[in-house]
Amino acid sequence: MKIMSVNAGSSSLKFSLFEMSTETLIASGYFERVGMEGSFYTIKYNGEKIKEEVETENHTKAVEVMLDRLVSLNIIESLDEIDGVGHRVVHGADKYSKSVIITDKVMEDIRSYVELAPLHNPANILGIEAVKNALPNIPMVAVFDTAFHQTLSKKEYIYPVPYEWYTKHGVRKYGFHGASHCYVSKKITEVLGRNDLRVIVCHLGSGASISAIKEGKCIDTSMGFTPLAGIMMGTRSGDIDPSIITYIMEKEGMSAIEVMNDLNKKSGLLALSGVSNDCRDIEEAERSGNERAKLALDKFVDTVVNYVSQYYVKLGGLDCLCFTAGIGENGPDIREKICHKLECLGIHMDVSKNNFRGELREISKDGEDIKIYVVPTNEELMIAQDTKELIG
Ligand code: AMP
Repeated sequence: MKIMSVNAGSSSLKFSLFEMSTETLIASGYFERVGMEGSFYTIKYNGEKIKEEVETENHTKAVEVMLDRLVSLNIIESLDEIDGVGHRVVHGADKYSKSVIITDKVMEDIRSYVELAPLHNPANILGIEAVKNALPNIPMVAVFDTAFHQTLSKKEYIYPVPYEWYTKHGVRKYGFHGASHCYVSKKITEVLGRNDLRVIVCHLGSGASISAIKEGKCIDTSMGFTPLAGIMMGTRSGDIDPSIITYIMEKEGMSAIEVMNDLNKKSGLLALSGVSNDCRDIEEAERSGNERAKLALDKFVDTVVNYVSQYYVKLGGLDCLCFTAGIGENGPDIREKICHKLECLGIHMDVSKNNFRGELREISKDGEDIKIYVVPTNEELMIAQDTKELIG
């Protein structure tokens, strides 16, 4: 059975095609600058990587090119080989606690959640419509970023703000990166062979979030009503005092939207370092003595440590701390700094095991009660697994 997972962004479209009998990746691709000048794609298959500039004026065209190349590059013989397509959908509100087969009603719901995720759901809808146009008879599944966090208790998801904001407007914590947190928690359950685990997953990428997971169920997560909340990120502030927003609006004569744009796109590691939003650049700057680069990294580590220690208490202890995503998988120095600060909780890294990138490995000292693991995330496979399960 071949399943494709699709992740449509506002100007991009990523896909992965899996052979699900063995869960092997057949091909993956990335269309960039969709709807813009200079659009191009890269496709990886069979150990090769090809890149081609091709005009993709919209997502429909990108999907057409994607399907055409799958056949013309002999990755598959015919489109009939694709049994199902799973789509990443950022917001499923409080209705979807699991992935679902996409029906007209599901589409209607996803459209109604555009208000909650104005930056993401519209692009996800374009992706779904484009695939539906090209492959009208193939079952499609929506895998929601918010679904895994639907197990949060009301005490965890409610904000202490006027209650009507929740009842009338859906203001509550939703949490994001669900496919990744779910994938990592399942993987570690499998690796340790126990399903009674208390796990903290640190998804540290350009967007970053932390989840507390007990016996496979998420009990709290750092992102909130939107993906702006929680720990500091590449360009996002994470948690701040909300009064800063109106203060800066007045002081700088900015609109609320402009301030929110700064908090989403000009804050975080980028703002504090003044160098870049990419950890690699900031670490290099720190090594050459840039003090703001050091400040940015120290602050990032601090916000992670704050959440991990909070969740340690919430879980009543810890069995495993997991690092995943770009920085979590590939940033040994940051992992070491985080774990160093957590030693007082009995979290002990073996530094000699930590110098590697992008592999599933244990990095805790031998014999420790609290294990530390690096677990490469695979949101695409998670999407394909859910799709396979639902389409049978
Ligand atoms: P993601 O959003 O999961 O793709 O993660 C992207 C981020 O991972 C980048 O912005 C980098 O900051 C970080 N990253 C990727 N490779 C490395 C590396 N070798 N060392 C440190 N950080 C890295």
